[in-house]
Amino acid sequence: MSSIAQRLELVRERIRKAADAAGRLPTNIHLLAVCKTVPAALIREAYVAGQHAFGENYVQEASEKIIALADLRQNLEWHFIGPLQSNKTKEVATLFDWVHSIDRLKIAQRLSVQRLNEPQLRPLQVCVQVNLSGEITKGGVAPNEVAELCDLVAQLPAICLRGLMTIPAPSANPAIQALACAQLRQCFTELATTRLGNLAYAHFDTLSMGMSDDLEAAIAEGSTLVRIGTAIFGQRN
Ligand SMILES: *Cc1c(COP(=O)(O)O)cnc(C)c1O
Repeated sequence: MSSIAQRLELVRERIRKAADAAGRLPTNIHLLAVCKTVPAALIREAYVAGQHAFGENYVQEASEKIIALADLRQNLEWHFIGPLQSNKTKEVATLFDWVHSIDRLKIAQRLSVQRLNEPQLRPLQVCVQVNLSGEITKGGVAPNEVAELCDLVAQLPAICLRGLMTIPAPSANPAIQALACAQLRQCFTELATTRLGNLAYAHFDTLSMGMSDDLEAAIAEGSTLVRIGTAIFGQRN
């Protein structure tokens, strides 16, 4: 099996190629290494190989690893990307730099209040999660509710609204992958253009889409942040 450093380099190469093919700058596409189920020692290995942004889905698991990697904290960016319940918001507001999975105002309000109690931390950077497939088991707001939720979230004092995120229904068909990504981009572009000049949207620059199997489609459709687990750390059990 190849090392994490080698796998990381292969992912970076895929990003470069996809960016080239789309006529985009690879530096405009950020790589988030998704490390759910991955032990802290392997995250450290990825860090040594130059990876500094990591995504986690479960609060309990993440907090143990964030503590285990506390010596690197200043150089790490932790992103929460999983479903978030009210009783976990305090830990997330304390431990993380980003949250990609905002789909209810109440959760964002709690995060803001709790983040205000950490004046040494900069505002929490958040994306609103959009559910494009309509699968009720998945998190995310319906496309027709995105604008209203974004307008409210953007007003919260300790929150900085950065963009939109989606988890498309899995498909090996590049045309279907591209369609979901194009839908999120349309949502994003519509909001960005209608809120132009609105200060609450001054940092609205992030399209969080693309995973190990669809990163090429996502980059072709404008992704600025791909969330990659399996292609870096291998198959999860
Ligand atoms: C697990 C996960 C990923 C990474 O998926 P891979 O297919 O392993 O690259 C990305 N985003 C979210 C929200 C995830 O839960």
